[in-house]
Amino acid sequence: ADIAMDYAKELGGNQVQYFSPHIYAKIERRMTLEKHLRKALEKNEFILMYQPQVNVIENKIVGFESLIRWDSPQLGRVSPLEFIPIAEDTGLIYPIGKWVIEEACAQNKHWQRLGLPKVSMAVNLSSKQFYDRSLCEQISNILQDTGLEPQYLELEITESMTMDVQVALATLNSFKNMGLQIAMDDFGTGYSSLSYLKEFPIHHLKIDQSFVKDISVNPTHAAIVNTIITLARNLKINVIAEGVENEEDLRLLQDFHCDTVQGYLFGRPVEADQVPEIFARFGKA
Ligand code: C2E
Ligand code: MG
Ligand code: MG
Ligand code: MG
Repeated sequence: ADIAMDYAKELGGNQVQYFSPHIYAKIERRMTLEKHLRKALEKNEFILMYQPQVNVIENKIVGFESLIRWDSPQLGRVSPLEFIPIAEDTGLIYPIGKWVIEEACAQNKHWQRLGLPKVSMAVNLSSKQFYDRSLCEQISNILQDTGLEPQYLELEITESMTMDVQVALATLNSFKNMGLQIAMDDFGTGYSSLSYLKEFPIHHLKIDQSFVKDISVNPTHAAIVNTIITLARNLKINVIAEGVENEEDLRLLQDFHCDTVQGYLFGRPVEADQVPEIFARFGKA
C-alpha cells in the first residue's frame, strides 16, 4: 500500500488517482524485484564489473570503477539503476554495500599480487551507507582483512548525499584521515553547493555523463563542462569526465585540459578476469 501511495504522489497533487494497468505493472515489478533481492546476496547472484579510468596525457590506467550487476535466475540481469533504489528503501543496501566494498578491495589487492600496476578502485556508496555510523569502522576492517592500502580505495559519493553538511563533512574528514580517496560522482546533476565544494576534502570530481555525452554538438553542455573543469582546477581537485564515447568528445575535453576520462571509448565495464588484458593493451608503464 505504501508503494501504491508513492506512485499516486508521483502522479501528482491532491487529485484522486485511479490506478491504470501501467501502475499495477510497476507495483508488481517492484514487489517481484524486492522478493528476489532479499535472497540475492546469499545466492551469490551479484558480480562486480570494472571500468577503466584513463589518464589521456600519459595514456595510462589510473583506476577502475566497480559497478555492481545482479544476475537473477528468475529476472535476468537487472540494472543497478533499478535495484539499488529498492535496496536503499528496504535496508538491503547495508549487506549488499558491504559486500561490494569487500569484493572491490579483495579484487584490487589480487591484481596487485599478480604484479599489475597499483591503481585505485572506486566504489559507489549509497546514501544510507554514507550515513551509517559504522561505515568507517567497516571500511577499516575490510582494508585490514584484504591487506589493501587505503590510498587504493576511492569512495564515490554524490552531491545530494551531502545535504546534511555537518554530518557529511565529519564522515568525509574521517575518510581523509584514514587515507582514502574521495570522489564526487555525477557532478552537476544534484544540488551544487559550490560553497561547500571547497570545504569538503574531495580529491576527484566526476562530471556527469549527461553533460559529457554531447559536448561536441551541444555548446551549452560544452560551456558547462569547461566551467566545471576550470572550477575544479582552481580548487586543486582532479576532474574525471564520465561517459566519453567518441574521439570528438575526447578532443574537446583535452582542449579544456581534462586529464582523466572514463567511458566506452576507452573501455566498457568488464569482468575481473579481463582486467590483465586491459592493462596489457595500455602498456604497463
Ligand atoms: P555511476 O556511478 O555514475 O556509473 C557510471 C555509469 O555509466 C555505469 O552504469 C557505466 O556502465 C555507465 N557508463 C560508463 N561509460 C559510459 C559511456 O561511455 N556511455 C554510457 N552511455 N554509459 C557509460 P551502470 O553500471 O549501469 O551503473 C549505473 C549507476 O548505478 C551508477 O552510476 C551508480 O550510481 C549505480 N551503481 C552501480 N554500482 C553500484 C554499487 O556497487 N553501489 C551503489 N550504491 N550504486 C551503484
Ligand atoms: Mg560512480
Ligand atoms: Mg556517475
Ligand atoms: Mg551515480
